[in-house]
Amino acid sequence: MSGRITSLRNSYRRFAEYARPDRRYFWLDVFTIVIAVVTNTAMIWLMGKPLSLIQAGDYAALVPVLGMFAVVLLINQLAQFAGGWLSNWLGLRFIGRVRNAMVERLLYLSFPVAGQVSRGDLMARLSNDVDRLKAVWIDARLMSVSHLLTLVLYVFMLFWIDTRLALVAMATVPVFVLHQRYFSTRKRVAAEGFLQANGGLMAFEEQGLANLRGISSNSAEAPMTALHRGVFDKALHWGVRERGLDVGFTVSFTLLIYLVGLLVVLVAMQAIRSGEMPVGLLMSFLLYLGYLTVPVRGIADLFFQLAGNQPAAVRIGEVLEAQPLVPDTASGRELVVREGRILLQDVSFAYPEGPPILQHAELAIEPGATIALVGPSGSGKSTLAALLLRFYDPQQGVISVDGQDLRSVSLASLRKNIAVVWQDPFMINASVRTLLQLARAEASEAQLIEACRRSYSWTFIQQLPNGLDTQLGAGGVELSGGQKQRLAIAQAHLRDAPILILDEASSALDSQAEQAIVRELDALRAGRTTLIIAHRYSSIRSADKVVYFEGDGSLTVGTHDELLQSHPAYRQAVDWQTGQGEEKNLGA
Ligand code: ADP
Repeated sequence: MSGRITSLRNSYRRFAEYARPDRRYFWLDVFTIVIAVVTNTAMIWLMGKPLSLIQAGDYAALVPVLGMFAVVLLINQLAQFAGGWLSNWLGLRFIGRVRNAMVERLLYLSFPVAGQVSRGDLMARLSNDVDRLKAVWIDARLMSVSHLLTLVLYVFMLFWIDTRLALVAMATVPVFVLHQRYFSTRKRVAAEGFLQANGGLMAFEEQGLANLRGISSNSAEAPMTALHRGVFDKALHWGVRERGLDVGFTVSFTLLIYLVGLLVVLVAMQAIRSGEMPVGLLMSFLLYLGYLTVPVRGIADLFFQLAGNQPAAVRIGEVLEAQPLVPDTASGRELVVREGRILLQDVSFAYPEGPPILQHAELAIEPGATIALVGPSGSGKSTLAALLLRFYDPQQGVISVDGQDLRSVSLASLRKNIAVVWQDPFMINASVRTLLQLARAEASEAQLIEACRRSYSWTFIQQLPNGLDTQLGAGGVELSGGQKQRLAIAQAHLRDAPILILDEASSALDSQAEQAIVRELDALRAGRTTLIIAHRYSSIRSADKVVYFEGDGSLTVGTHDELLQSHPAYRQAVDWQTGQGEEKNLGA
């Protein structure tokens, strides 16, 4: 038992820091709880009093007793209101801090928990699991104060009213202890099952929503619905079990308490009949005993909750403690880019348990040059970009920028010097302005507009309902793929980094859009070392050099013309990869 309690304490203790800033209000809340409990105790005592007075025929004393009751009741309700309000406020603030810390951690990981945990499951951890944690760390701690104090005062009152009856009632305590242990063990198992199944369910739904187009175009609605039902049934099974345990616990607990009440009345019968005990006193006794169910039940429930919500604390702890794939040397120097020369020396890389993507790769990219990365899909073009951004570290060899090993400089300084335009630009539910300011927080209005002009996005931004302040995404304006890409290019202009990575859209564009984008990108490339994950013939042709990914981990480097002459696989790849673009460009 003590081992279990230690393990419970350890899984929860780390969350103290998220409640600490509000600890003064916590104690204020405790104070209101103490007032509420003391006034409750007095009220129960005052409830039995009129009965005894009526039995004794002392009607004159009734009025002050009722008046006192009214005053105590008022204080009690005020204290309850303040306590309820405060605990809700404390709880919400606690949730906010924990979620914020989790999101911050996830953002710094770059790839959520190394891609092992799905987004849906992370969403479940951020919402459902955090709520459960709050139920323990705020609600349960406050309630335990209330319950313990109530327990002490009520038991004291029981003994004060009638020691013999109180002893009879206390003799039944072990039964309640056993009862509580029986249920809490089962509750923990069920809660763990539910949290996992619920995470799986959210992951499935999140993926489904993200792939609506793919599902519809494959007419996969029916099989997806059936799969969803399967995943849902699992969560249902554990959810029903967990809730069933809750209800079973309440019902059997109530039953036990009533049995104890009956026992007490049986024992008290004699004293009532002989007139030794006034009826009002027995009533107060039974009321204290009855209301004792609240703290006893509450304390049992507390253990029940501590056990049941432990898996949530563990799951949140996993997020907060997740380690990034690449260590960021806190003492790392700043990367200083003077020219923008990129060098790969004997670089080998493979994803965990995957085949080699790069093997002893050598590559020198001259300052200001444009390099096109070409090769079959899955040959490692994006991986090279990821290595340069240090999403991963190579298992062997060195990647350097202007002679500085990427591992010796801070991640922030590295990424500050590289601007990326992804094929699928990232969007947030915010205004165009906010989105652009993510690239450069301190950008002036003039700089924002300039970047929009240079990325040819100013025209369409001006046509949006609120210009730069138009809300994008859910509930706002949906942009086309091309418009999103232009905004990403505007962001790259604002970043003004010496190194640029362009992940070209692989989907075919009409030639007008294509030409516009080529112009935009030419403007962006000027004076920067540029890597293009190339899908367009025009970019391949205009690159200073082409790196061809053979697909077996080796790279072939040359100019486009050289490779066309000497490398049949390259020629084929260009034909295949840019088939449409080539026709259009050649035709144009
Ligand atoms: P390309 O950009 O040339 O299409 P990628 O660099 O995206 O190719 O991928 C190279 C190979 O590495 C592919 O086989 C892909 O499945 C695998 N891969 C890509 N990303 C990951 C990842 N995060 N974890 C494991 N394997 C990956």
